[in-house]
Amino acid sequence: MEKVFCKYHPSTPARWQCQPCRVDFCTSCASPDKASEAPACPLCGQATTSLGAGNLIRPFWQRIPRFFLFPAHPVPLLFMLALTVLSTLLASGSLMGLLFMLAISVVFYKYAFVILEDTAQGYLKPRPITGSVITDELELPFKQLLLIIVLGVLNYQVLVNFGGGPFVLMALFSVVIFPAAIMVLAVEHSFFKAVNPLMLLVTIKRIGPSYFIMCFFLVLLLSGGAIASDLLLNVLPQSLWFASSNFISMYFILIMYNMMGYVIYQYHEQLGHSVTEEYLETETLSSKTAPGDPRFRHIDILLQEGKTDEAEQRLIQAIEENPGEFDAREKLHRFYIATKNRDGLLRHSADYVARLLHSNKPSEAMRVYLEASHIAPKIKPGGARERHELAELLKSNGQSRAALSLLNNLHKEFPAYEGIPGAYLLVARIMFEYFGEEHKALQVLDFLKKKFPGHPLQQDVEEYRQVIERMAGASQPSA
Ligand SMILES: [Zn+2]
Ligand SMILES: [Zn+2]
Repeated sequence: MEKVFCKYHPSTPARWQCQPCRVDFCTSCASPDKASEAPACPLCGQATTSLGAGNLIRPFWQRIPRFFLFPAHPVPLLFMLALTVLSTLLASGSLMGLLFMLAISVVFYKYAFVILEDTAQGYLKPRPITGSVITDELELPFKQLLLIIVLGVLNYQVLVNFGGGPFVLMALFSVVIFPAAIMVLAVEHSFFKAVNPLMLLVTIKRIGPSYFIMCFFLVLLLSGGAIASDLLLNVLPQSLWFASSNFISMYFILIMYNMMGYVIYQYHEQLGHSVTEEYLETETLSSKTAPGDPRFRHIDILLQEGKTDEAEQRLIQAIEENPGEFDAREKLHRFYIATKNRDGLLRHSADYVARLLHSNKPSEAMRVYLEASHIAPKIKPGGARERHELAELLKSNGQSRAALSLLNNLHKEFPAYEGIPGAYLLVARIMFEYFGEEHKALQVLDFLKKKFPGHPLQQDVEEYRQVIERMAGASQPSA
């Protein structure tokens, strides 16, 4: 009966439980791939067990004021007012009058059953009343009447045959079992199921102690309605009293049927009753859960539990299964940055940078590279082409030192790379323009001249050499 909350979202009711781990999860921490299956535990991977959707539903005793407000909604309120007016106009001692009264109460009880059924389905607000809402299955109120007659006859027989003591017991038993009978009748629409004691006892057993709490409230409501009518008897003239007492008893009956429906809704899993509107009232609750990609909630949980190795393995696995999965790569990168894991950065973040370059995300690639290179200065993403491309990007964004370290020894590591002249021209520029190393810059240019004669870039190489010589000459004091 006690509500269970998510370990990671303490204000959100839990939906699933892992018994081996002894952890409860809300629907954002563990959600099934298929609606029919329990999700795997984010921690150990075993199937979780359901805590019952009822755990997400606010227990009925926590929303008593809502039940009182329900009949005050315009739809039921106008309906009850109309019936009140009709019954006042048509009431008379004649047979016709009595038949009218019967018809009115049949219509009213049919509506009460509609409310019970709708609420049991999770529709917590009254729906508009149409003709068919009232006229379909109009036999329900008669079945209820029959139920009352059967119980009355039974009680009478006990009184006649066994005397006062057993009769009191039987009467008490009837009071306790009657709401269950109404609920079974509303759900099953079968009179025989509603009078089947076994069916009723199973219903009560499945709802558990809450059933008796409900009975307590129903008795309170029943007597509340009666007391209210009694009080009005002293205040109002006879003609008005009849109408208002009618109205009050209808009002209290709707509260009761609404409450019984809600109890079915709250315990629908235990009762094996399927609902259409699961988690209707929980939207406000679950909206408090942390934002973030729900696909990686289990990673956050593993990290929160200190199971970092497993979180890392799951992310690597997710990346292997779907190499274009940038969210998993970003998460793994963040994890390595946070744990200053140099090897991890060299292995995975380097690959991530190359992927970002291939996907035409240059600024992302630069960010990831710069973050990683703070911790792992030796990080070299991808092959020669990626390094060259990244170096160009870094240089044009003022990260010349980083660009230089990317191109270091490129010709030794990738002798076959056809872009070496372009890359090394970049190196010469950085050396001269950012570090003032004209000798080293000239050495690089000499190397290019010797190594790549006839290359289309040779003209640029020669022009840049002249630029260096002119500028270096100008800056030196003439001897
Ligand atoms: Zn949660
Ligand atoms: Zn587990």
